Amino acid sequence: MAAVLAPDAPGTLSFELSDEHKLIRQMARDFAQSELLPGVIERDRDEKFPEELVRRMGELGLLGMMVDPQYGGGGMDTVSYVLAMEELSKIDASASVIVSVNNSLVCWGLEKFGTEAQKRKYLPALTSGEYVGAFCLSEPEAGSDATSQRTTAEDRGDHYLLNGTKNWITNGGRAGISLVMAQTDAAKKHKGINCLIVERGTPGFAIGKKEEKLGIRGSDTHSLMFSDVKVPKANRIGEDGFGFRFAMSVLDGGRIGIAAQALGIASGAYELALKYAKERKAFGTEIANHQAIQFKLADMATQIEAARLLVLKAAREKDLGKPFGQSAAMAKLYASKVAMAVTAEAIQVHGGYGYVKEFHVERLYRDAKITEIYEGTSEIQRLVIARHLLGA
Ligand SMILES: Cc1cc2nc3c(=O)[nH]c(=O)nc-3n(C[C@H](O)[C@H](O)[C@H](O)COP(=O)(O)OP(=O)(O)OC[C@H]3O[C@@H](n4cnc5c(N)ncnc54)[C@H](O)[C@@H]3O)c2cc1C
Repeated sequence: MAAVLAPDAPGTLSFELSDEHKLIRQMARDFAQSELLPGVIERDRDEKFPEELVRRMGELGLLGMMVDPQYGGGGMDTVSYVLAMEELSKIDASASVIVSVNNSLVCWGLEKFGTEAQKRKYLPALTSGEYVGAFCLSEPEAGSDATSQRTTAEDRGDHYLLNGTKNWITNGGRAGISLVMAQTDAAKKHKGINCLIVERGTPGFAIGKKEEKLGIRGSDTHSLMFSDVKVPKANRIGEDGFGFRFAMSVLDGGRIGIAAQALGIASGAYELALKYAKERKAFGTEIANHQAIQFKLADMATQIEAARLLVLKAAREKDLGKPFGQSAAMAKLYASKVAMAVTAEAIQVHGGYGYVKEFHVERLYRDAKITEIYEGTSEIQRLVIARHLLGA
């Protein structure tokens, strides 16, 4: 289903969503309420990957939202994607990170930069939920400084020989394909890095331990090991040495998804706090009647609205084909900060009940923290923004 914002009249600025956008948001909201909510506390507690729900999300078109329908995708715009991400993240940020990585890091990157053969081979399975994809840039010694890749992809004529370790890989234990950044020519520094598509089960490719995490505990985070893995040349994305540029452009788009995730975590916590404030009584009246609680709700709603506008602006710029790197970094930086602040206040509004699992806000508080770390920490977002401001 194609979806575009209502066209703006010349010289005007419209904040209206199209009817199709509203339908997509409603579909994601209904799915989150009816299918993600039951069991979300248990999945968090038991660190259980939502296997069945991933298949459902594939059926609903949530895993390849922006992919061209000829490859099995939804043909939607980025605005539709962030609307869906917000709704899913209100309930289950572990499920929404699977959606985010699959849509923006894997499918978008493959569709934009992959060969026709790569798209035909991998996109239908990625969009349908037959399998999910992983994006592998971080290493034990290379996080923020992603240029210092130690994983190597030695050029052996018709194939690369891949050796090294990747850390913190979301969907790592489940992925049907992994997009792996590796150094081919160290003398060329970051211009010698390639991105290779590595299929699950390729000899020499091993899945390491699953990380035990503070939040997004239902998501699957692993280290991955490559020992003399033969990857055909046909599996390289882009020309020789394009891997670092590939990773950076894909991450620009990915940040819009994570900003939307942070926004959803914040708005989910806010909605719970608003509801609770109208029900809970103290000193003979609903706590919503105490001005201190009203001020908290007012601040939360204002911050969320500001974050939402930044997220939509970045998404809209991407859809219009404009440069969006600065807006994406601003949206992620701000929305993740809002997620931290709002989830903490939502616990405060709940009092002691906010501190226990049953009321959901403690999980959202734990989940919020990762949005300040992955796909570039908040410090790195500031560096990206400053580089744009200074034209560096
Ligand atoms: C749950 C989870 C899922 C993840 N999923 C993926 C994934 O799917 N794929 C993937 O490739 N990676 C993934 N990551 C890795 C993530 O992107 C990195 O953790 C992140 O980029 C930070 O790198 P680092 O952990 O090495 O921290 P470091 O780079 O060591 O940073 C440590 C601290 O120093 C600060 N810092 C570093 N350099 C500077 C600087 N120049 N100026 C100012 N401050 C600086 C950082 O902001 C941070 O506060 C994931 C991480 C987690 C925790």
